[in-house]
Amino acid sequence: MRAYEIAAAVVGMMTLGGSIRGAGAGKQADLVVYVTGVGLLSGTEDRMVRKTVSEIFERVGVQISWVNGKPQIGAVPGAPVVVHVRLVQQSMADHSAGALAYATPYAHGLKAITVLYDRVRMIAGSPDLQRQLLAHVLAHEIGHVLQGTDRHAPTGIMKACWNRVDVVAMGRNSLEFTSTDLELIREGLNRAKTYVGDRPPSTHD
Ligand SMILES: [Zn+2]
Repeated sequence: MRAYEIAAAVVGMMTLGGSIRGAGAGKQADLVVYVTGVGLLSGTEDRMVRKTVSEIFERVGVQISWVNGKPQIGAVPGAPVVVHVRLVQQSMADHSAGALAYATPYAHGLKAITVLYDRVRMIAGSPDLQRQLLAHVLAHEIGHVLQGTDRHAPTGIMKACWNRVDVVAMGRNSLEFTSTDLELIREGLNRAKTYVGDRPPSTHD
């Protein structure tokens, strides 16, 4: 049985606020996800992956807004939590063996999630599984960012290593966050919202 490792290290809190709204929902987004490297995906794959990730988080009350491109330093991206997802093709030698993605701190309090797309593609084998695996890898890493920790859960989306049963559940959209994951996500979002609200006025552009 093959296991999929998802490595992540997340520290610090978000510092940005603003008014980008969640697509279609009419509510302010809790999370803005900037994406670069989408040229690696087909248009269909890109749309389906975003849809699946958005639905996973909508089920737990978290609204995501997606933006193509890199967050601009100095701009106000507009949500309590802002993430930059980088899809990269080349798995570098120093990446943890077997890891499909990892989250790291980024400039000015932003978080970056790097997805080793060639590994996802190689492991998945079929286009359907590739979309599902990529969506769940993103959901897992976004989970780390929202929780503000690199902890893992014994089951579900935040499990450290997925097995065949988990991958089958992904295909049915039935892999979920645990109740502890949900508590930590809510706590993390509340901390981020409070932090944004208490932020002193900017003294420079
Ligand atoms: Zn992880």
